[in-house]
Amino acid sequence: MNLSPEILSLRDDTVALRRDFHQHPELGFRETRTAGIVAERLRSLGLSVATGVATTGVIGLHGDAFGRAVLLRADMDALPLTEENEVAYASQNPGVMHACGHDGHTAMLLSVAKILSQTPAPRGVCYKFVFQPAEEGGGGARVMIDEGAPRDPEVAVAVAAHLWNDLPVGKLGVRAGPVLASADHFVVTLTGKGGHGAMPHQTRDPIVVAAELILAWQTIVSRNVDPVDSAALTIGAVEAGTVANIIPDRARLKGTLRALSPATRQRVIDRVETILKGVTAAHELTHEFNFTTGYPPTVNTGEPTEVVRQAAVETVGAGNVVEQDLVMGAEDMSFFLQQVPGCFFVVGSRNEEKGLAAPHHNARFDFDEDALLVGAETMVRAARKLASQLAADGED
Ligand SMILES: [Zn+2]
Ligand SMILES: [Zn+2]
Repeated sequence: MNLSPEILSLRDDTVALRRDFHQHPELGFRETRTAGIVAERLRSLGLSVATGVATTGVIGLHGDAFGRAVLLRADMDALPLTEENEVAYASQNPGVMHACGHDGHTAMLLSVAKILSQTPAPRGVCYKFVFQPAEEGGGGARVMIDEGAPRDPEVAVAVAAHLWNDLPVGKLGVRAGPVLASADHFVVTLTGKGGHGAMPHQTRDPIVVAAELILAWQTIVSRNVDPVDSAALTIGAVEAGTVANIIPDRARLKGTLRALSPATRQRVIDRVETILKGVTAAHELTHEFNFTTGYPPTVNTGEPTEVVRQAAVETVGAGNVVEQDLVMGAEDMSFFLQQVPGCFFVVGSRNEEKGLAAPHHNARFDFDEDALLVGAETMVRAARKLASQLAADGED
């Protein structure tokens, strides 16, 4: 591992910050304490700081405010979960826990900001440190974009890191193209006609239609999606009826859709609705289709991803940089990557020997804090490379 003295000198501070955030987790759009500390830290580094972006988001600038920006992003929110870890820095906020590692992301990016702000940014370039609220479902990134985060100064490239317990500490995962899926949700309400369970001919049974729909939808992934592409369609909730001998009037289904490309995502959505219309019409039922657009697929752009890969290789050595696994989970960094080229990479943070191996979103989730240094080092290296590229482009 090739950690610079400047990163190593920040070890204690980074870990202390992370533990402080861990002890005081806050849910999406309510990260007031965390945002307060972030803003104060950034100001103490001499950065120009905007607060209250998307309610609790914070943006710090270092460099040419009229130049082109390298955006570095961290998410600050925790999850509604009761921590089961028995550690000194366990959550003091019952029912709320940093179980995804966003406490680490925030601490890590503050250390990155500290290092990058110690030297002038290249000519015509600005580092934009974005601390966003509500990654876990709230789409804080979307709100920050709506409030102008990619402008003033104009963002040319964006990078974010996620601590990753699927990978051991000391490894980094980088991948060009899609890395995470889109995540959309829908609720279908089927309305038929209830009646006696022994006289089904007098009814229009929404339960039978719900069953047929669930199976018919399964053909979407198997028959409408290219087998070398990927999508997932899950019905996670079925609500209907009360007792054995009554056919109810209504049934309700709740589902989630995942896809790795915008085209496949649209195809799956269209097929869900077409099948819904056909099956309900065939059985003389009516339906309501409430579709909620969620996060788009997270898609990394080629060039900046190669820059991050190079930074990763310099930090941990080529043998420790792996092709990031495709995962059907979703991330709202995807909204930034829809706007500008960039890269979302993962930082191995599992350590079996230290008992730090629980999965993300688990009540026993915790990670090896050495990962914070690896992630910060990689981000600093990548940011510097991207900034000098922008400066060089500006001189052409
Ligand atoms: Zn998460
Ligand atoms: Zn996360």
